[in-house]
Amino acid sequence: MRAAKRTATFTESVIREMTRVANQYQAVNLSQGFPDFPMPEPMKEAACTAIRGDINQYAITWGSPPLRQAIVEKYRRWYGMEVDSEREITVTCGATEAMASVFMALVDPGDEVIVMEPYYENYGPDAILAGAKPVFVPLERPDWRLDPDRLRAAFSTRTRAIIVNTPHNPTGRVFSRAEMDLIAALCIEHGAWAITDEIYEHIRYAGEHHVLATWPGMRERTITISGLSKTFACTGWRLGYAIAPAEQTGAIRKVHDFLTVGAPAPLQAAGAVGMAFDAEYYNHMAAEYRERRERLLPVLREAGFRFAVPEGSYYVLADFSAISKDDDVTFAKWMAREIGVATVPGSSFYHDPAMGRDLVRFAFCKKLETLDRAAERLRGLVGGTGGQQGGDV
Ligand code: GLN
Repeated sequence: MRAAKRTATFTESVIREMTRVANQYQAVNLSQGFPDFPMPEPMKEAACTAIRGDINQYAITWGSPPLRQAIVEKYRRWYGMEVDSEREITVTCGATEAMASVFMALVDPGDEVIVMEPYYENYGPDAILAGAKPVFVPLERPDWRLDPDRLRAAFSTRTRAIIVNTPHNPTGRVFSRAEMDLIAALCIEHGAWAITDEIYEHIRYAGEHHVLATWPGMRERTITISGLSKTFACTGWRLGYAIAPAEQTGAIRKVHDFLTVGAPAPLQAAGAVGMAFDAEYYNHMAAEYRERRERLLPVLREAGFRFAVPEGSYYVLADFSAISKDDDVTFAKWMAREIGVATVPGSSFYHDPAMGRDLVRFAFCKKLETLDRAAERLRGLVGGTGGQQGGDV
C-alpha cells in the first residue's frame, strides 16, 4: 500500500537529517539550529512548578490566558503594537505549526505564495500541503539583497501571500526599512497577505527589527508569527504563536485546534514568565550571540569559506567553492565524516538544488567551547579536500 500522493512531493527535512549524520560521525553539530546551552533557570523552575501544581491538562486551545497576556505586553512594550488577546492570538506548537496552520487557514489551492530564496525549508512543504504554488524571488549574492524589480514582477492577481522572514534563515539578513516599505506597498497594491516569520527577532547584530504589522496599512493584512524557541533557547518546548486580525484568527484557531489542540500547558505557564523578562535579558542574549558569531566567522574565513557577515539570526551561509568543487551534499557529508563538523547543504534552501550547490549553512547557536572544537577541526580544511574529493582546490 502506498502513501498518499502529496507525501511524494516533498522530501524529509535535510536539516533534521544532518543532525542524524552529525550523531553518526560524532561530528560537531553546526547543522540544525538549536542551542546546546541551557535555557533560563527561572523558566525551568516555572515549568516544574506548573507541573507540580497540576497544570497538566489542556490549556485553552488557542493559548493559556497568562501567555496570551504576556504576548500582548511584549508587543506593546517592544513595538508599540496593540494586540487583542481574546481575538487576535493563537498559541501554537512552535512557529512551525503556526506557519502550517496559517497556510491552511488562509491560502486556497492554486493560490500563489511568494517566497524569497534561499528560504527556510519548511515553507516549501507548507505550500504543498495547502495546495499553493510557491513563487520564488531570489535574494541576490553576495550580500543577499532583495531586488525590487524582481519582487515587483513576482506579484500578480494570483498572489495570495508573501512570506517575510527577518532576521533571515539561512542568510542572516535583517531586511532594511526600504525593503520592508516595498514589501508593504506591494501587499497593499495587490491585496496580498504578509505572513511573517520573526522567530529570530531578538538575535541581531546590526539594524532594527522591523515588525511589518506596524507599517501603515499593514496591520489588517499581516499575520505575525514568532515564538519562544530561539529567544529562550527552548526549541524542544514547542511554543510559538500567530497574531492576526480577528476574522483570520478564527480560521487559524480552527485549523490549529484540529491539528494539535494546543501547545503544552505547563510550558505555556513557564513561557509567560520568560516573556516578562526585562531588557537586560535580551541585551545579554544578543551580546552572547555576537560573541559566538565573532568566534566562528574568522575561522570560516581562514578555512577559505566566503560569506556575507550575518546581521541577525544565528546562521552563516557560506560559499565553499574555493575549498572544493564537490556539490553541497557531497561536501557536507564529507565534512561531517572526515573533518567532524556538520553543516546543512545549501541546496536545502533552494527549489532548484543547483542554486545552492556551492553553499553550506553553519549554525552558531552553540557554546563557545563547542565552536572552539569546531574551529580546531575546521583547521583540517586548510589545504582543501586533500585529494579525497578529487582535490581540485
Ligand atoms: N529553524 C532551525 C533550523 O533552520 C531548526 C528547524 C527545525 O529543525 N525545526 O535549523
